[in-house]
Amino acid sequence: MTDHAVNTTGAMNLVNSIPGALALLLACSLLLPTGAGAANKGGIDPRPITFEPEPLTKLHPKLAWIKRDKIRAAWVSADLHKPYGDTDKTQARVLADGGFNTVIFGMRADNKNRSHMPDFTDVIPANIEAAHAVGLAVWVLMSYGTIHQDPYHRYRDPAGKLATKTCCPLDLPYLERHFGRWAVKFAEAGADGFILDTEMYESDLSDYEGPCVCSYCFRAYLDVFADNGDTIYDSIPAAQRGIWLREIGVYGHYSRFAVKRTEDFLDSIRARCQAHNDAFILGYASTMEHLPGNTRGFGTSTVPCVILDESEYTSGPTFTMRRNLQYIEQSGLPALYIGGLWINQNRPEQLAERGLLAALYADGWWAWYSWALVTNPDATTGPQTTNPYGRWKGTPASAYWDVLKPMHARLEKLLAGDRAAWPAFPLLDAVAPVPNGRVPLRQGQITLDGSLDDPGWQEASQFEMAIDRFGKKDGPENTFMLCHDDTAFYFAARCPIPEGTVLPEQLRGRDHPRAWANYGLELFVDPSGDGRRYAQLILSSDGDTYESVMDYGPGAFQFGDLDWNPEIEVGVQRTEAEFILEIRILFEDAVLTKPKHGETWGFNVCRSSSAVQSWSPTYGPFHLPGRFGRIQFVKDR
Ligand SMILES: [Zn+2]
Repeated sequence: MTDHAVNTTGAMNLVNSIPGALALLLACSLLLPTGAGAANKGGIDPRPITFEPEPLTKLHPKLAWIKRDKIRAAWVSADLHKPYGDTDKTQARVLADGGFNTVIFGMRADNKNRSHMPDFTDVIPANIEAAHAVGLAVWVLMSYGTIHQDPYHRYRDPAGKLATKTCCPLDLPYLERHFGRWAVKFAEAGADGFILDTEMYESDLSDYEGPCVCSYCFRAYLDVFADNGDTIYDSIPAAQRGIWLREIGVYGHYSRFAVKRTEDFLDSIRARCQAHNDAFILGYASTMEHLPGNTRGFGTSTVPCVILDESEYTSGPTFTMRRNLQYIEQSGLPALYIGGLWINQNRPEQLAERGLLAALYADGWWAWYSWALVTNPDATTGPQTTNPYGRWKGTPASAYWDVLKPMHARLEKLLAGDRAAWPAFPLLDAVAPVPNGRVPLRQGQITLDGSLDDPGWQEASQFEMAIDRFGKKDGPENTFMLCHDDTAFYFAARCPIPEGTVLPEQLRGRDHPRAWANYGLELFVDPSGDGRRYAQLILSSDGDTYESVMDYGPGAFQFGDLDWNPEIEVGVQRTEAEFILEIRILFEDAVLTKPKHGETWGFNVCRSSSAVQSWSPTYGPFHLPGRFGRIQFVKDR
């Protein structure tokens, strides 16, 4: 089925094709407030779409154990009722004795018939019974977007490309068929939770690069916000939709609408599950807000969405985990965050040490793939001890139980006692402090032409940038300069291009959704200095810019807001040996408010072309505002 051939009915017709309660919910949620004086843009009336914080304030009494004991989850196969090795204990019993309190196991519908799940009537009840008999909570998992069955809509990314397999994230009837109705059946069958693994195995993408602009999604947007949806729909070629949305300045609005629809859809599944068990947990893997809207869709202020994050898989808790926890708190997300560890990539002692830290500083931990902890426990060769599903090289299961059991006992003691006795969060003392710099007043003329011999640059502050994200010297020796005046912020950089470099094909135009793939630089500018709301600027060596606001508010996190378009002027020069960038960006009210004398901003310069480098090492991805450097606006450098 091609994208053009799909049913293009809009949001209201779409509502008619899904179950009654869900339809009502969606219809209600689409009655969005009319913004006072919101300007009509290109035939679109972008009425504000708002998101209210929904923090976890009244935890359901049946879930009090989560705060007291933390979540300690084992992601296993559905063999909990079977014996552990040649003992007479069930696998569930061994997991409970080892200190786990939750098990997660995956189920799949028949690939050729999504209405049939072969193991539903025997395997699920046997596992629930075995787990409940020893006090383990049971969360059943399904994989999102894996092994599709037509008919369904394909994802079209905002740059225009139609996926060959990956599903549209908002093909609601399909998603209902794919996993929604099964989540409800698991709740009916007595499970305690449902986890959606959003990693999309066996699809052509494992992440969405932005909101889907397939016929179905684009049409749904027009039906709600355009007066003449038919005309717009017919006049914009499918591959140009994302570009058109950017050009008329509603791309960010479109993204928020997609987030809202995701929230409403998942919320309807949650409500149907919780009609059977009002403390039924819903959650997801693999990274926070992997599908933007996940968290608020699944969680409420009473029953949280559990986020099974994989950022800690091989390293244990890091700055990424700290940022994620901070995001949950600042946005008022109804979420609990548990850090995942990959058994095969962690020696038993490492697994215990890192699991303890995640359980103390986050809301718990989970071990993948815990099948290895309970299957062929004495084997030191074979699948139980090899990548990816097995234990650490040649290790018997007992080596894990010898450390996990005491770790969980220690966790309970630490949680009941004084926080001062906790082991320190890793890295905080071990890494370099963030760099500082000054942004002096401009002392002379600057012409934005890609040459740095202007008088204004001679008195600017100079910086070097030649290290990777972990503070190690690596890659080209870049330099950059900063200054400011009454109306604008100035940045210039000289970036060597290593000999023999073949530049990737450059994606042209402002706010290109894949601008990060261009050969250039990224700037992060955080005027508040607290990381709540900061600008990301991507500058290509062709002079194209991408400006986005990252807002630690509900609904905005993953894709940023591309409707923010400050006045920016660029000068650029590129030879075979180097590129030079100069920018002048006007202070404005939305994000880059004019600094007072002496004011300090968070700031970072990053490069991911030729090498991955950053001025301030983040010890993680670029988007870690807590690790941005500090720049102070002063008179002299
Ligand atoms: Zn779509």
